[in-house]
Amino acid sequence: MKYFRTLQTKLSGFLLATGFVLIILSLYLLVGAWQEDRQARRIMNDARQAGFLFNALKDLPFERGRTNVVLSSAKPVSVQDRSFIDERRRLVDANIGKGIAWIDQNDPALAEDLRRAYAGHLALRKKIDNVLRADSGPTRSELREIWFAQTSAFIRKIITALEIVGKRQDVPGHFSAHHRLIVYTLEFRDRIGQSGSIATAALSRNTPLSDDEYKRFLANLSQADYVWKKMETETQVLHEEALDRQKSVVSDAYYGKYRPALEESIQPARKTKTQPDTIKQLKDLSVPAFDSVFLLMEEYRKTVTAEMKDYRRKAARQLAFALFQFLAGVSLVVFTIVYFRKRLFLPLNRIIRSLQNIRGGKAAPDLEREMRHPDEIGQLAAGVKLLESTMAEERHLRELTELRAVTDELTGIYNRRYFDQNIDGILARADRYDETISLVSYDLDYFKRVNDTWGHSAGDAVLVQSARLAQRLVRGSDLLFRFGGEEFLLLMPHTPADGAVAAAEKIREAFSQFEHPGAGIVTASFGVSERKAKEPFIAWYARTDKALYDAKQSGRNRVVRAADSLPSVSPAHLEWLPAWESRHPQIDEQHKKLVDLANSLLTAALEPPVEPAKVTEALDNLFENLARHFADEEKVLAEAGYPGAPDHAALHARLLENAIMLKEKHQNGAATTAEFLSCIVNDVVIGHMLSEDRLFFPYVRK
Ligand code: GH3
Ligand code: MG
Ligand code: MG
Repeated sequence: MKYFRTLQTKLSGFLLATGFVLIILSLYLLVGAWQEDRQARRIMNDARQAGFLFNALKDLPFERGRTNVVLSSAKPVSVQDRSFIDERRRLVDANIGKGIAWIDQNDPALAEDLRRAYAGHLALRKKIDNVLRADSGPTRSELREIWFAQTSAFIRKIITALEIVGKRQDVPGHFSAHHRLIVYTLEFRDRIGQSGSIATAALSRNTPLSDDEYKRFLANLSQADYVWKKMETETQVLHEEALDRQKSVVSDAYYGKYRPALEESIQPARKTKTQPDTIKQLKDLSVPAFDSVFLLMEEYRKTVTAEMKDYRRKAARQLAFALFQFLAGVSLVVFTIVYFRKRLFLPLNRIIRSLQNIRGGKAAPDLEREMRHPDEIGQLAAGVKLLESTMAEERHLRELTELRAVTDELTGIYNRRYFDQNIDGILARADRYDETISLVSYDLDYFKRVNDTWGHSAGDAVLVQSARLAQRLVRGSDLLFRFGGEEFLLLMPHTPADGAVAAAEKIREAFSQFEHPGAGIVTASFGVSERKAKEPFIAWYARTDKALYDAKQSGRNRVVRAADSLPSVSPAHLEWLPAWESRHPQIDEQHKKLVDLANSLLTAALEPPVEPAKVTEALDNLFENLARHFADEEKVLAEAGYPGAPDHAALHARLLENAIMLKEKHQNGAATTAEFLSCIVNDVVIGHMLSEDRLFFPYVRK
């Protein structure tokens, strides 16, 4: 379900589902139409094949009737009769084989039966031809009986087969009605043909009808009437004008003319001899009657063919429609998906990517193309573009603000705050990668004089110009800070002491040659030192500052390289240095006291005999004084209005905390006595006086 969380997948899913439903529906229609079309073709094919049998049945009764007449008479066969019979035989033979082949497709057993009957029919024909050639009277009448019975049975077999196969076929109702009607018509024709033949035979031989013949005659007539009734009913249901018309023709020719004449002629025929003109009259009337029946059948077949064509057309139309629907469904789905992908999904994705990039502060993809869309996408893209430029502007502003926070307002180089924020990180990195890093601390010489002689703003101008000169001379990776007043720090990563000395020398040289407008040349003194491995900043700075102090002491405008350690720290005794003088009586007194206490601690800890109790006492004493001094110093600084007072108090707290931690570490044996003493004396006592405290000296000097 996670997949369906985006609008895109939901919409695509919906479109695809709709498309599939459409396609499946149209496929269903397509299959239906195709089946319909196939059925229409099958029905047409069946009708055509059945037509062979219908045609055969059209000629077979004629063959039966004329042969019957010929066999009834003792006279030689006339040329006319012979050719009539031959023509009928030819037509029957032309159709019957194909008709039986069609039955074979539907019912092989039935076809086999018909084939046997047809073979019998052919054999009988041959026999009749022989008898007719031999011209023997009595044999003719025997054969006539056989011929009539066998041919009638053959005709019935064909009609029955048509009926059976017709019933079995799965076709729409009116098609089977037509088929039935054709079969009825054939049967009707057969019945009236038989009854006519019985009568004609009797009349021809000029003897009355036997009882048996009369019975058969009547049976055929009533069967014909029965079938005629059924035909009338079915025709009424079909209700087709052409059929009705042809049916009236049959009714007129048969029931109106031929049938009354036949029934009238048969009465005397049963008893007495007939007049020759009766036969002639019957013959004349029979031809239109029989013909009209076949015309009716032809009419049925015509309507069936027309309907069939109609049906076929309808099926083809349906097929075309379903095909169109299917194609429409497919193209709708394809189009919709392609369209939405191009016009909605892809642009949306790009816009979202833009937003993500904007949020991540990266460059957003170009949305030119999306912005040209005249729809919601265009508006959205324009909005994102606007957002992007607003954010960029804001970022620029923020960067400016940040820059302002880390740069010194007067000189434009990094300020003390930036130094404090970064020094820990820089040293940690140097430790991790074992980096050589050097520090240059420099202070303008006799700067107070510049201020006093030329005014504060001239002094400011000198500071700005000096910073500019120095900045121009250092490398991009070097960091130049205004550390306080007119004291600067230059932090030089990846630089050993020699390099730093060279850099400091370059700056000193530049200062000593630059003529400030009004103030003239203002030189500076430099202290340089390379950081020892893992050296705490406070110790490193103390060494650098000591070098700077030495540079000042030895005449100024020079570079002094720091010693590896502060000379006054390593021996077991500290000498008070003038550099530590703040010229504030209370602070100087307390600083001197701290140096004394540190000396007492060193003596207790290093000069034998070492008594732990004495060491602890000296240590406690030192700590106690240190805490008190820190508190007093903070008060003095606050009163003097020193701006770094809060920072300085925080530094005091840190130093005390460190000292207590070191003490615990030493007591636990985690730090050697030498390490412990070095840290306490160097970092806490000397370090704090030499470096940090020196920054406020100008403020508290009395
Ligand atoms: P030395 O050679 O020993 O350094 O002599 P100095 O005169 O430079 O002495 P010191 O370093 O003690 O004096 C620094 C003076 O710099 C004190 C203070 O008035 C002045 N100063 C500090 N910050 C500024 C500032 O931003 N602008 C100006 N114009 N003067 C400043
Ligand atoms: Mg100074
Ligand atoms: Mg100075």
